[in-house]
Amino acid sequence: MPLPVVILLCVLGFILLLFAVCAVRAVCLKKTLPDVKSAVSWTPEEEAKYASDLSALVKIPTVSKKQEEEYPDFLVFQEKLKELFPLFFAKAENHDIEGNLLRRIPGSDPKRGALLLMGHQDVVPAEGQTGWEKPPFSGEIADGCVWGRGAMDCKSTLCCELEAVESLLKEGYVFKEDLWFFAARNEENSGGGSDAAAAYLKERGVRLNVVLDEGGAVVDNMIPGLKYPASGIGVVEKGFVNLKFIARSAGGHASTPPKNSPIARLSAFVTEVEKKDVFKKKMATPIPEMFGFVAPYLPFVFRFMLGNLWLFRGLVTRVLAMVSPMAGALVKTTAAFTMSGGSAAPNVLPDEAWIICNMRPSVHQNADESIAAIKKIAEKYDIETEVLYSRDASAVTDCGGEAFRFLARCMAECFPDTVVTPYLMTGGTDSRRFEIVCDNVLRFTPTRLTPAQIAAMHAANENIGVKALAEGVKAYRYYIEKYNG
Ligand SMILES: [Zn+2]
Repeated sequence: MPLPVVILLCVLGFILLLFAVCAVRAVCLKKTLPDVKSAVSWTPEEEAKYASDLSALVKIPTVSKKQEEEYPDFLVFQEKLKELFPLFFAKAENHDIEGNLLRRIPGSDPKRGALLLMGHQDVVPAEGQTGWEKPPFSGEIADGCVWGRGAMDCKSTLCCELEAVESLLKEGYVFKEDLWFFAARNEENSGGGSDAAAAYLKERGVRLNVVLDEGGAVVDNMIPGLKYPASGIGVVEKGFVNLKFIARSAGGHASTPPKNSPIARLSAFVTEVEKKDVFKKKMATPIPEMFGFVAPYLPFVFRFMLGNLWLFRGLVTRVLAMVSPMAGALVKTTAAFTMSGGSAAPNVLPDEAWIICNMRPSVHQNADESIAAIKKIAEKYDIETEVLYSRDASAVTDCGGEAFRFLARCMAECFPDTVVTPYLMTGGTDSRRFEIVCDNVLRFTPTRLTPAQIAAMHAANENIGVKALAEGVKAYRYYIEKYNG
């Protein structure tokens, strides 16, 4: 047989072998969820109590304020918390920092570290949002849900955490490990309450074993093709950058426009950024780990690709970058142009035109590198770059570590009909501030949310299901008990 034919046959044979190996791996990977009952249950009376408590909290309009502003609504809110959770507030040491709640229930075993449960007291405003079917601070309980601003983000988280702890205290439960509780009053405007609390703990030499904050939840359609709901535990959040791009000119009358006016240059720049691959694409932690958790529950084609990342990693990365904005955000820094301005009148050429860009740097291309990449393009168009705000992605909590695996195991027992997985948060929480005192920052509220409920976050008609709330209380309680077990 001629040598070229032998080589061709060998190559074909090798490709077939690779294909066969991938197919076998994909077939062997297939899993279905165990048909077991959830570890948690609750009574109709408990369900009604939790809904009524959350409703009372939603009625108090704790709209986010800067640290230096007065905060009377928050004082009312805190009084309500003390009324609803009297044992917790009687038992916990008070370490509050200017209206940011920081409390500690000492554990019986000082050698063990500490667990921090957190959330935030403040909410975003509802002003100017038409479409609220029920007044935003009504806290109405209707159609099986509690309605209003903060019902989900994030008074439900606070409510579930405190209901769980209060019920344990009622039964005389003794915590082995220190239990810290933190709720900022300015999370939504990055007002500094969490920085102050983290610094306070650091100063006192407190080390936290685990921080559990809001973040992921139990949701449908998290990944295309996944027929089960997913419990996504956030193990990292992307960075945050605001840039101002400024194009200057001599200005002048609009009747005699020159070429390359500031707005024309900015437009060309924006078009190039949108069309070009500005940022590095990479499947960095925790994306491969997430696919490792989820792939066994996906249809064969997805299992074939995602279950064989050793071979298809490059291809899958490129596909993710193209397939949707959400998938693209998993593998690269994103840049969104959000605000712009020019001259003060329609017939005046601008001396200076500007545009604001909000970027979310990836873990593998931090803020400075991402800024440098986009600045290089701006310079081509004689555009200046001003950095208004910049921070890198958070640290990544180890998905193979005990803290993550323990929470994942507990949540799989509470929500056995769901696939528990680590994931990358494209938005931000306050929990990253506690990295200075904790290696295991986890972002997950154990409540079921529908796609409509997720869409209502920071928008009109925010709500949470009454049953989801009760399930959340019991899941927190289950976790805390096992954790201290
Ligand atoms: Zn929130």
